[in-house]
Amino acid sequence: MPTEVCVFCRIANGDSDAAIVYRDEQVIAFRDIRPVAPIHVLIVPIKHIASLNDALPEDETLLTHLLGVARQVAVQEGVAAGGYRLVLNSGKNGGQSVFHLHVHLLGGRSMQWPPG
Ligand code: 5GP
Ligand code: ZN
Repeated sequence: MPTEVCVFCRIANGDSDAAIVYRDEQVIAFRDIRPVAPIHVLIVPIKHIASLNDALPEDETLLTHLLGVARQVAVQEGVAAGGYRLVLNSGKNGGQSVFHLHVHLLGGRSMQWPPG
């Protein structure tokens, strides 16, 4: 998909608005527009990677960094001590709806298992 029509590329480029809570040279984090928990932040690589399946071996450091940022944002959002859930939906059966890789950080309530 061309990056100019990808909603998360547009947010990362500053072409679309979002409530940004973290940004560095490789990763951006912003509040989900339809939150399903009191804290619902998306952690997104600035590089367009459609899904986990499309990540390349050379993206491994970036993927590790994505998790590190998720941990940091959990602290920043005040949910680290109480606990939180990270979700990475991949593909149709995984429930992915935006095809730009992202990790959901969900917190502020207790989570159920199994997920729907
Ligand atoms: P997925 O279903 O692909 O795992 O998650 C995509 C998430 O992106 C959904 O939770 C959805 O609410 C969120 N989302 C979709 N479009 C936008 C947008 O334009 N801005 C923000 N902040 N979140 C979005
Ligand atoms: Zn994109």
